[in-house]
Amino acid sequence: MTNYILSLDQGTTSSRAILFDAAGKPIRSAQEEFTQHFPKPGWVEHDPMDIWRTQRDTARAVIEGQGISTAEVANEIAAISITNQRETTLIWERGTGEPIYNAIVWQCRRTAPMCDQIRAAGFDAAIRAKTGLVTDAYFSGTKVAWLLDHVPGARASAEAGELAFGTVDTWLLWKLSGGALHITDVTNASRTMLYNIYEGDWDDEILAYFNIPRSLLPEVKPSSMVYGETVAHIFGEPIPLAGVAGDQQAATFGQVCLSPGMAKNTYGTGSFLLMNTGTAGVPSENGLLTTIAWQLENQPLIYALEGSVFVAGAAVQWLRDGLQIIDSAPEVETLARRVDDAEGVYMVPAFVGLGAPHWDAYARGTLVGMTRGTTRAHIARATLNAIALQSKDVLDVMARDSGIALSALRVDGGAAANDLLMQIQADVLGVPVQRPAVTETTALGSAYLAGLAVGFWPDTATLAEQWSIERTFEPQMSDAARDDLVAGWQRAVERAKGWANG
Ligand code: ADP
Repeated sequence: MTNYILSLDQGTTSSRAILFDAAGKPIRSAQEEFTQHFPKPGWVEHDPMDIWRTQRDTARAVIEGQGISTAEVANEIAAISITNQRETTLIWERGTGEPIYNAIVWQCRRTAPMCDQIRAAGFDAAIRAKTGLVTDAYFSGTKVAWLLDHVPGARASAEAGELAFGTVDTWLLWKLSGGALHITDVTNASRTMLYNIYEGDWDDEILAYFNIPRSLLPEVKPSSMVYGETVAHIFGEPIPLAGVAGDQQAATFGQVCLSPGMAKNTYGTGSFLLMNTGTAGVPSENGLLTTIAWQLENQPLIYALEGSVFVAGAAVQWLRDGLQIIDSAPEVETLARRVDDAEGVYMVPAFVGLGAPHWDAYARGTLVGMTRGTTRAHIARATLNAIALQSKDVLDVMARDSGIALSALRVDGGAAANDLLMQIQADVLGVPVQRPAVTETTALGSAYLAGLAVGFWPDTATLAEQWSIERTFEPQMSDAARDDLVAGWQRAVERAKGWANG
């Protein structure tokens, strides 16, 4: 009887490892930050060896910390799972395992001009129809093309089949398996802008457009299956490698959003929303992304609509650091509770423009509706309203695009700890908001995927039973009050739009 799943959570600023027990409870974790490299304005890189070293060391730290000896690891740990920062792009030599360049991080803007060219040529429509993605420098495709074009000798080596491309999951699987595995899972593949999410294969037309040889690409696998095992020397004994998903998809699985219409929202710096749309990939009419949510072994692909809001918790940071009306992020709740509502004050935190569904790069932050009676408490309240209303805007278009009504919203992320914000969210949506007992949803989701593959958990029904809610927020606002609030919000958003464009 093994006791744990070891979940590796490779994020943008740190690597973490968490041991989950059979009840899905996090038992022990370790975390290590690593260096961010900014070689030019707008460029972001990671050292691939930093990613590997911190990930391996945190895994070792939890194993040792739990008192598991190297002779017992295979008895104690049923499988290793991986969830990762998505889209970040690496290329290494197959022969030596040496990276040919740093990892180009999802945030890196170096290929923005290439994306402009793609749009000018009109190829973005094909990319959207095949990959479900908007043409943007975030995704791996243009990063791969950049590496082949700019690293001396890379293209010739790639054409000779000597190089391997991978997202972070692929890199970790390669290192953990001692170079035996060159694979990715469907969720990570769906973020490369090279993968046809409807056909479930790398897309030859896109590969030809970017001049990327197929031999560079990893084999694409389900998110839950036994891929192979770790080489013995890393942890003392081989451990099965069994579940992989990109971070947002893993969080959706960790929230057990298993049926169509179930959605999760992660409230961090920004908000990340995913809605399960079942076995149908739904193209968006409103600039959302269509993506693969996961695939269980021998099961069909499950799709999701994805939307993000650029500024969510960051608006609270602004109250703290910019406006200095609170000393800490949690204090926003105390302050906002001093008033019953924002009394007509609206804050639109469009500090960096507006994303889905408004898509206005020239929108800027706006505070409207103030009177002599307005206090900082109203501004705090208006900020929480804005975080909830922005998410409602995205969920509304998800429902419209998919034709599936939202049944409940499951929440996680730092700002989900705010009870008032969660109540406002339930109020403006008119559906319950459910906050889980285990908020490590990303790591838990990939652990679930691995655990299913090795029989640590028998089926998804067991997961749904085991997953528990810490608190449900039921909608309490009257329809009339909600309509008022939403109508005012829409007017405020109109005021914010186009501001920086004169
Ligand atoms: P990230 O992973 O993006 O760094 P986290 O999930 O750690 O984000 O959440 C941090 C964000 O949540 C910050 O922007 C912070 O302002 C916000 N935040 C944290 N606690 C609260 C709270 N109690 N109420 C509102 N916002 C909060």
